[in-house]
Amino acid sequence: PLVLGIESTCDETGFALVRGHELLVDRTSSSMDQHARYGGIIPEIASRAHLETFLPTLEQALAEAGVKLEEIDAVACSAGPGLIGSLTVGNCGAKAIAAALGKPLYGLNHVIGHLAVDQLVDGPFDGPFIGLIVSGGHSNLLLVNDIATDIVELGGTLDDAAGEAFDKVGRLLGLPYPGGPHVDRHGQAGNREAIKFPRGLSRPKDRIEHRWDFSFSGLKTAVARYIETLQREGKELPVDDICASFSEAVNDSLTSKAIDAALEHGIKTVVIGGGFSANSRLRELLNERAEAAGIEVRMPPLRYCTDNGAQIAALGANLVAAGLPSSPLNFSPDSSMPLNQTHIVEV
Ligand code: ATP
Ligand code: MG
Ligand code: FE
Repeated sequence: PLVLGIESTCDETGFALVRGHELLVDRTSSSMDQHARYGGIIPEIASRAHLETFLPTLEQALAEAGVKLEEIDAVACSAGPGLIGSLTVGNCGAKAIAAALGKPLYGLNHVIGHLAVDQLVDGPFDGPFIGLIVSGGHSNLLLVNDIATDIVELGGTLDDAAGEAFDKVGRLLGLPYPGGPHVDRHGQAGNREAIKFPRGLSRPKDRIEHRWDFSFSGLKTAVARYIETLQREGKELPVDDICASFSEAVNDSLTSKAIDAALEHGIKTVVIGGGFSANSRLRELLNERAEAAGIEVRMPPLRYCTDNGAQIAALGANLVAAGLPSSPLNFSPDSSMPLNQTHIVEV
């Protein structure tokens, strides 16, 4: 079956076509340039941009694939979590297409799509895996028994998400928004051991009570203090070393917990997804630790880490293949859709 995937949770309007696990086209239009000067996403601007780019981007995707709208067998759209205005524009468009074609519509969990997209490159999942979701809004460990029907949330961040923490440190250092990729790049040139930054939730009590959770706000505060002290003393900031040491602290927590979760649950595979899964040190450290523990890691190529239509089409293909019921056309987007819910089944 040919599945059209539509992404609209935040600032990206994305369309992709997937047949089985084969990606035919993936087209994204982003309004990030319009938000950059505010240092954060402005929901009203994002919603308007979806409205303006929805049809042109869809038409480009269809033309590039040489596919007519009538040839599509199912429509999938991200139904949450995300910005309600962005979701509403994309969902209305998706519903209109599904209704006009008389085809089933699947309202999907955007975050689970970040994991599903890996199949387009590395092939279908063939057993349970530990999902490490790391993005601008999430840092979670999931036990995924079946991506369509059976997901258990093991833990998540108590405060900031990994990407969010990177963006905030980027701002402290005066780097452009979003700071994540810039902090990553500076970190590659720095010394990871230069500054001793704290690891979140490392007290004995937290290690038990928050076994699979993350916390990055204490670390972020430590970085802020470090920067303030140097600035007060009129010293130059060792930007590369700060980025490298901060990045090491975040990625140490993420990778050690992901591997431990796999070992403790007797799972052989870890899959990562989300914008932060593009982080170079995360990928390096996870590979290192997984190899030492005899665990397989699957990571999507960089171009599929940030938001796109391919992640939605890939997940839609899973639901179609599993023969699961589609979503009712009168569903509402869910800005805080829970991670153990892959798609909307009833209103
Ligand atoms: P969610 O998926 O939870 O709804 P989101 O869709 O806003 O959140 P994504 O688009 O998946 O988030 O990811 C964007 C985040 O990824 C930003 O915080 C960005 O700074 C971060 N990011 C992207 N590339 C890198 C990188 N190389 N290193 C660190 N962070 C990065
Ligand atoms: Mg984005
Ligand atoms: Fe995302």
